[in-house]
Amino acid sequence: MTHDAAISKAGAIASQVLAPSAAQNDKAGRFSTEAVQSLGESGLLALLLPANFGGSGLGPRTFAAVTATLAEADASVAMVYLMHVLGTACLSAARPSATPALTPILQEIGAGRHLSTLGFSEAGSRSHFWAPISRAQRNGNGVRISAKKSWVTSAGYAQSYVVSALAPDGAGPTDSTLYLLAAGTCGLSVAGPWDGLGLRANASAPVALEECEVPWEFQLTDDGAGFPAMLNIVLPLFCLGSAAVALGLCRAAVAGTAAHLKNAKFEHLGKSLGESLPTLRAQLAAMQIDTDGLEARIDDLVEHLEKPRETTMLRVLEGKAAAGDVAIGVTSTAMRTCGGAAFSKHLSIERLFRDAHAGAVMAPTGDVLREFIGKSLLGIPLF
Ligand SMILES: Cc1cc2nc3c(=O)[nH]c(=O)nc-3n(C[C@H](O)[C@H](O)[C@H](O)COP(=O)(O)OP(=O)(O)OC[C@H]3O[C@@H](n4cnc5c(N)ncnc54)[C@H](O)[C@@H]3O)c2cc1C
Repeated sequence: MTHDAAISKAGAIASQVLAPSAAQNDKAGRFSTEAVQSLGESGLLALLLPANFGGSGLGPRTFAAVTATLAEADASVAMVYLMHVLGTACLSAARPSATPALTPILQEIGAGRHLSTLGFSEAGSRSHFWAPISRAQRNGNGVRISAKKSWVTSAGYAQSYVVSALAPDGAGPTDSTLYLLAAGTCGLSVAGPWDGLGLRANASAPVALEECEVPWEFQLTDDGAGFPAMLNIVLPLFCLGSAAVALGLCRAAVAGTAAHLKNAKFEHLGKSLGESLPTLRAQLAAMQIDTDGLEARIDDLVEHLEKPRETTMLRVLEGKAAAGDVAIGVTSTAMRTCGGAAFSKHLSIERLFRDAHAGAVMAPTGDVLREFIGKSLLGIPLF
């Protein structure tokens, strides 16, 4: 699959599968299995997967464009997609001793029949996902894990979960290891409902692990090497993908607001809202300016990921922090510009506004990112 083909497939799925049911799924808090099926059949679930497993081996540029396209129609599905890509990246980068056991799973991802996700955040350490409270216990050649994973996107729908736990002999709070748990693992269960303010259709429910036995072949990193994998494999793609979700939301807010300003009329004046009020035109313009600014930031981040340099990690952190703020700002302006029609849920704007608030609270949160950036500018250790 080429870059252009991937975007065109994402566009077709967005308009034919996601857009028609996004509002109903949001209202009902319903996970879209049809969306996942379409993404699998189109090859998009294997977008970044190497060709030897049946993937397209494409990079961050295509990933960002596809994710933004999906988010424009339904940010819940885009987030499911993002977490799957991250889970897949962890499997692809697993240590060589795991390859024989992971190969059939990676081939299933290549065939579009397997959805993965990440279970890093824990109830005890909250948004500080880099410091799991749970600790893997040695169990023969493998380990046994009990953990309270606080939010896991696609909980109950994914076929596999990439989870973190402190290494059996880890000395510090970040000495974690990553493991793969198949959905049917004994002791793994969805531990509660998902009824979020936004991203309501992505099943980000808590997951309990009770004495889950993990064979050694499903240990993805060396003991204690989970933290570097989180930083080097997961963080750049997560920050890029979150920024792309934010961009999709902003684009949808601009389009929805423009449509409303064109279609809604002051009948007594014989003009549309947009023709009547310069303030509304100025607000729409401000939304467009911020959306284009975010797009340029994402392009810059993609270039940094394609050609890594000294400033790449800074751009990664900035990308998610800025995108979260831009999405909240643009969708808030859309709410004000569309007035009572948006407030009373006659338009999709209020869904975008609610969905946009997830980015800033998903870890690393916007606050934590600013804290990291500030510390790094001052030469203070981050952890
Ligand atoms: C829709 C959704 C989907 C999710 N999906 C997943 C998933 O698939 N996998 C997964 O592992 N997790 C997932 N999460 C969890 C997410 O990544 C965060 O861990 C979670 O949102 C943290 O919420 P909290 O209330 O526990 O944060 P808290 O840690 O209690 O934070 C509360 C506030 O304190 C601020 N804060 C915390 N630490 C600092 C600091 N050091 N400096 C400055 N401010 C700070 C935060 O920014 C926040 O404003 C998901 C969350 C949501 C909302």
